[in-house]
Amino acid sequence: MVAAASKGIGLAAACALAREGCRVSICARGAGGLEAARDRIKGESASASVLTISADVSVAADLERWHSATVASMGPADILVTNTGGPPASLFMDLTDDQWEVGFQSTLMNVVRLSRLVIPDMQSRGWGRIIHLTSLVAKHPSDDLTISTTLRTGISALTRTQSNQLARSGIRVNAVLPGNTMTDRAIQLAEVRARARGITRDEALQAAADAIPVGRLAEPSEIGDVVAFLASERASYITGVSLLVDGGVAQCPI
Ligand code: NAD
Repeated sequence: MVAAASKGIGLAAACALAREGCRVSICARGAGGLEAARDRIKGESASASVLTISADVSVAADLERWHSATVASMGPADILVTNTGGPPASLFMDLTDDQWEVGFQSTLMNVVRLSRLVIPDMQSRGWGRIIHLTSLVAKHPSDDLTISTTLRTGISALTRTQSNQLARSGIRVNAVLPGNTMTDRAIQLAEVRARARGITRDEALQAAADAIPVGRLAEPSEIGDVVAFLASERASYITGVSLLVDGGVAQCPI
């Protein structure tokens, strides 16, 4: 199950898992985007089995419906990738309670609820992989991504507590923290930052690339491949990690 996967990093994760031979169940809000995503996955992996369900990850009933449909069609989930659209970019004093509430439901509670749905079956089978797609900001706060920074730091802590509590059930729980990745979200953020600085969108994207040691934004597939690795048997001894995939931006203690 890969959440919020009609485009961007979620879709790249679904494509990478399908290339590994996984059957994939993806959700997003719009049916049109999901159809295009299915075509893209099957374009890369012709024999892939793909289930698409319209669901808003911030709505508990939608998550339950997506999970039930997946289990009915494909059996219990072996791998869960949580993901969502990015919360609004804003400085702290400009944010309203409503924006915090929307961010909380979409960014944090979707992770809580989806985990709760898949864990019992993973426990009874003694195997599972949970991967939370979050952000570099969990370790490297960003002033204009206040909600994302706050909640993603919490998800790194949740990753740790979930991994501790589930390790002996054969379940591995990790978070993947992408840096600036070339998706529609990155372009939207570049537009917001360009307006704030009085520069063009392309200049904002170039400034973002210049600030990355690798010298460019990530391709979504470079994040998707890390998700596929963490979901694999090859990652059997990795759990509780918040793994930066940021081209070297965050200068964290070793
Ligand atoms: P994107 O805009 O390309 O894709 C977002 C996907 O989420 C789309 O499929 C969209 O339909 C879906 N979606 C959005 N809101 C949803 C909802 N409420 N319910 C169901 N589906 C929903 O964005 P992206 O760049 O792939 O970002 C994905 C996540 O990664 C975001 O949470 C973002 O904060 C994070 N992230 C992105 C970057 C980056 O540079 N692109 C960097 C760090 C973290």
